[in-house]
Amino acid sequence: SHNLFDIFAQRMRARGDADFITTRDGRGYSYAQALEVSARLAGALVALGVSPGDRVAVQVDKSPETILLYLATLRVGGVYLPLNTGYTGEEIRYFLGDAQPALFVCRPAVEGEARRIAGETGCPQVATLGIEADGSLMTAAAAATPYEDIQAREGEDLAAILYTSGTTGRSKGAMLTHDNLGSNAKALVDAWQFSEADRLIHALPIFHTHGLFVACNVVLMSGASMCFLPRFDVEAIIDELPAGTTMMGVPTFYTRLLQDPRLTPELTAKMRLFTSGSAPLTADTHQAFEARTGHAILERYGMTETNMNTSNPYEGDRIAGTVGMPLPGVEIRITDRESHTALPQGEIGMLEVRGPNVFVGYWRMPEKTKEELLEDGFFVTGDLAMIDERGYVHIVGRDKDLVISGGYNVYPKEVEQVIDELDGVVESAVIGVPHPDFGEGVTAVVVKEPGATVDEAAVLGSLSGHLAKYKQPKRVLFADALPRNTMGKVQKKQLRDDYRDLYN
Ligand code: ATP
Ligand code: MG
Repeated sequence: SHNLFDIFAQRMRARGDADFITTRDGRGYSYAQALEVSARLAGALVALGVSPGDRVAVQVDKSPETILLYLATLRVGGVYLPLNTGYTGEEIRYFLGDAQPALFVCRPAVEGEARRIAGETGCPQVATLGIEADGSLMTAAAAATPYEDIQAREGEDLAAILYTSGTTGRSKGAMLTHDNLGSNAKALVDAWQFSEADRLIHALPIFHTHGLFVACNVVLMSGASMCFLPRFDVEAIIDELPAGTTMMGVPTFYTRLLQDPRLTPELTAKMRLFTSGSAPLTADTHQAFEARTGHAILERYGMTETNMNTSNPYEGDRIAGTVGMPLPGVEIRITDRESHTALPQGEIGMLEVRGPNVFVGYWRMPEKTKEELLEDGFFVTGDLAMIDERGYVHIVGRDKDLVISGGYNVYPKEVEQVIDELDGVVESAVIGVPHPDFGEGVTAVVVKEPGATVDEAAVLGSLSGHLAKYKQPKRVLFADALPRNTMGKVQKKQLRDDYRDLYN
């Protein structure tokens, strides 16, 4: 069988009493315990009516038991469908209606509302799971006959449906197969040299590809252990760094750690790898982190639909501002945005990707699937990129964030990099805002350092020698912070909405 759980179960049995997952307050599971409890949870799922191919929708706070529930779902042949903990009842109604799960697992505190929404959307079962191993699902598991089989699955059967982050529009359900997840986890274990000796500091959310598949599948596939933190918290990370060997983060983890004077080479002496992804890591942050700790952050690039596509090398140059090279088995091409024909090396175009990691389509969106998953198997990522002479991929930005001003293409990142270099500037976001003469006006939103005196005229003045006229912002606005979602992604759509009427 090609059930991903087959591969995990072999590892888990071999690891026996070795540590798998622990929390800061000392709760946790060895691999043997994780196998046992997940078999009980699998028994509970079957008793609740979950059959192979059924979706199990899950919106709960992060806890070790959530990962055991994920394993149990794979084991019985179900399709794991995690939901962002920030979604409101209204949003949950949409997702349950769209995904038609056989079971919805929710937080104990919102059971009443969850039952109402489940009833309205035709979801037959609701169970609860709390962060202290509590809730009706854990009670059912304790009473259940352990499910010791592993449901046979084909490689192309669905293992999970993961909703995209919704940065560019409504979230889409990406259908991921057992082979998608298994092949990518294996590629990452090899590329990043994960082993049983590793201890991962896990501070990411687990409803997203980064914290769930990149982090947990890599740990399970290598037999490593992890310290499970409910969220990113500088104090907790500083405390755990001496005992860890690796950490996976979004860029804001690193910018926040850099603000703490306790971040030193001594504190991170046992760490062997820091990775970054989900949003661009600035070259500045990369260099500052290396100067402070001696560790060059390894940046990689991926997305919900494809798992991970490229990675900087474990051995060899990790180049700041790049996302490295395609992982083994992954093909990448840069194409013309409209015709999908390949562009010469060095040119900026649409990044397209093909490989065993690429999803099989969007759940119940056949039109969207057809647009983005081409007949030759390449997936149109929506990201603009360039490949340099050494083969390193540079992500330039999203196609949807490209600004077209007076007929010229302006790549926001190029302008942001120049603004970010200016004294008194923390960071910036460059967006296109409707403009009566230019179609779109290049517009910069800038966050300044506390007490800095830099103003609109100063920014515009210092850009004039550095950027062609058409790339220079028409206006520079200041904000206290850039709007970001839980994955640290700047919400440019929100900025465009906020400043929609700027030039009218
Ligand atoms: P939606 O597809 O719903 O608009 P989203 O694209 O943000 O949301 P995800 O699948 O979570 O949803 O994010 C994938 C995207 O994140 C990539 O397409 C890319 O734009 C960005 N990304 C991921 N890693 C990196 C990186 N290292 N550098 C720059 N961008 C990155
Ligand atoms: Mg996307």
